[in-house]
Amino acid sequence: MAAKPAANYQANLRDRTLGALDTKLAKLGIRRDFDLVLHLPLRYEDETMLTPIAEAAPGCPVQVEGSVIDTDIVYRPRRQLVCRLRDASGELVLRFMNFYPNQKNALAPQARVRAFGEVREGFLGAEMIHPRFRVLHGEAPLAATLTPVYPTTAALPQQALRTLIGKALAGADLSDTLPEALRERLGLMRFAAAVTLLHHPQPDSDGEALGSRTHPAWQRIKFDELLAQQLSMRRHYRERKSKAAIALEAKGSHVGALLGRLPFTLTGAQVRVWGEIGADIAQPRPMHRLLQGDVGSGKTIVAALACLRAVENGVQAAVMAPTEILAEQHYRKFSEWLLPLGVRLAWLSGSQAKAERDAALRSIASGETQVAIGTHALFQKQVAFSALGLVIVDEQHRFGVAQRLALRRKGKGKGKGKGREALAGIEPHLLMMSATPIPRTLSMSYYADLDVSVIDELPPGRSPVVTKLISDARRDEVVRRIREACQGGQQAYWVCPLIEESEALQLKTALDTHAQLEREFPELSVGLMHGRLKPEEKAGVMSAFIGGTIHLLVATTVIEVGVDVANASLMVIEHAERFGLAQLHQLRGRVGRGAAESVCVLLYQSPLGELARNRLKAIYESTDGFEIARQDLAIRGPGEYLGSRQSGVPLLRFADLERDLGLLEAARDAAELMLRDNPQAARNHLERWLGGRGEFLKA
Ligand code: ADP
Ligand code: MG
Repeated sequence: MAAKPAANYQANLRDRTLGALDTKLAKLGIRRDFDLVLHLPLRYEDETMLTPIAEAAPGCPVQVEGSVIDTDIVYRPRRQLVCRLRDASGELVLRFMNFYPNQKNALAPQARVRAFGEVREGFLGAEMIHPRFRVLHGEAPLAATLTPVYPTTAALPQQALRTLIGKALAGADLSDTLPEALRERLGLMRFAAAVTLLHHPQPDSDGEALGSRTHPAWQRIKFDELLAQQLSMRRHYRERKSKAAIALEAKGSHVGALLGRLPFTLTGAQVRVWGEIGADIAQPRPMHRLLQGDVGSGKTIVAALACLRAVENGVQAAVMAPTEILAEQHYRKFSEWLLPLGVRLAWLSGSQAKAERDAALRSIASGETQVAIGTHALFQKQVAFSALGLVIVDEQHRFGVAQRLALRRKGKGKGKGKGREALAGIEPHLLMMSATPIPRTLSMSYYADLDVSVIDELPPGRSPVVTKLISDARRDEVVRRIREACQGGQQAYWVCPLIEESEALQLKTALDTHAQLEREFPELSVGLMHGRLKPEEKAGVMSAFIGGTIHLLVATTVIEVGVDVANASLMVIEHAERFGLAQLHQLRGRVGRGAAESVCVLLYQSPLGELARNRLKAIYESTDGFEIARQDLAIRGPGEYLGSRQSGVPLLRFADLERDLGLLEAARDAAELMLRDNPQAARNHLERWLGGRGEFLKA
């Protein structure tokens, strides 16, 4: 039976307005009622008292009440509404630049008006510009608590949001998710008391502590947020440990054979991390491990050893690098190391010819390929492994979070296709490598579900890179130095300025710089490397540089990660002030790989902005990747640092990892206890903080 049209129309209308409201709330990250409870004020306004007009200090927000003397529309020079208000102590002008015609009527002479705003000294004496006001009729008690000001969007007025939050707060279950004994031991406020106070503080609350978020109520909320993150990370960790992986045991002779053939011996740190990784992948549980080691510390050989373990156990390994140049370099290195052992490699990249690519795909799917190396092309849908046992991601910080999550899913056997039944439900081991160290606060929070190995020692015989900060005005001197060095048999990089807004412009700059340096160095061979070169052109340039037939390599940031040419001992970075800190560290890591003393010249253009100055200072003062990462985090904040912009996964909203380190540590310990002794409370807590929202940003 058809519904009555009118009823239908009403229902539609309601759905549509509700829909619009939902969209507006979603923009604020509010998806359910409890999110409203957790939508906390930015600041407060004090409407609990009235200030006599004569006592209103300029610049401080105050509430006044008076009766209207008169209200006029004036043209001075713009059309505006001017209302004169009087109380027992004095007079005040309320001035509105934008107004509705009926506001003039509402502000009729004699009307009683309460206005909130900042007083300033105007042309006609004290005035408030665009105050919030209301015309009073009858009884109008003052607010009993401070008025919250919430983060909101233009589309959702403050007052509407207050009403929604007020309702949610009244209807919500605010009971504590922390076991009482734990809460008392930690000296934390009750949850209900904390949120109620934060939404509606008493007028005598400590405004300073509320503003700086050090108030006990804020401490409780931040603790809860951190606890939710810890619980979520630990849950992931446990879930993973309950999954199956192929145990890659030490057997066969490949690993020993490679170690025997290397022209160097592993450093102590390499031996140690290889021990950790080897023990971990020998377990029938998927490893998720981050291998950290500063640029040049020798992570690649460790990766190769792990791949050999997979090969020895009859499963495949995949090695993924973020750029084509780096992936190719790995392919070259792995070829040199593994082909003599009879290991079958495959190469996969986005730009390779179709026939070649199809052949690689077939070989990977059939199991013919034992180690596949490539860019993120390795993890596209069409790529089906026959038996993937190990995934290695190099320079993992360069991949977006979404890509990394996709990759975790990749190896999961879906029980589809020939040979995959055996792998159903089995996950590959995952080794992520990064030269961008993760500061302790981040590894305790966003990376808490990973195991970490650190190479904290460089191979012997390296001499530290000397960093020089030189103003662009002295470019000539730099050019002279480069000429001398290259004539003396050294090789150099010349890194072109980063132009973030336009790839085309960046390319043009690289071409111009190359042409100019060719003119400046007629006696040298000057090469050019940029992202738009065809893969075989890139490979040609790189091998000419490695072979020493190119003396000076002009390059864009495509050489930022991983590129390893030991004879290159000089680097010039033009417009260094435009680069990020991690980027500068990575770039500088391209030199200092051989025994020759290396120099990195940061050419900068004055005057320097404050951020740029801080970055250059940090890179000048330190070559320690950990210190640089810490500075980078401090300068950029965790959101950008983690690349969360592209992920849409929630970051911490209230807690600040540096400032709230104590709470973070307490939350970590509490999470442990709750999972052990009180799993239901842990579930409730996660539901409260993350319900429907999935997971915290991780890995
Ligand atoms: P990164 O950790 O930055 O990826 P690489 O793996 O590229 O560093 O190693 C940098 C260089 O050091 C490479 O040329 C590599 O062959 C060399 N290397 C690695 N381990 C050692 C070692 N123990 N002794 C000497 N050279 C080494
Ligand atoms: Mg590397």
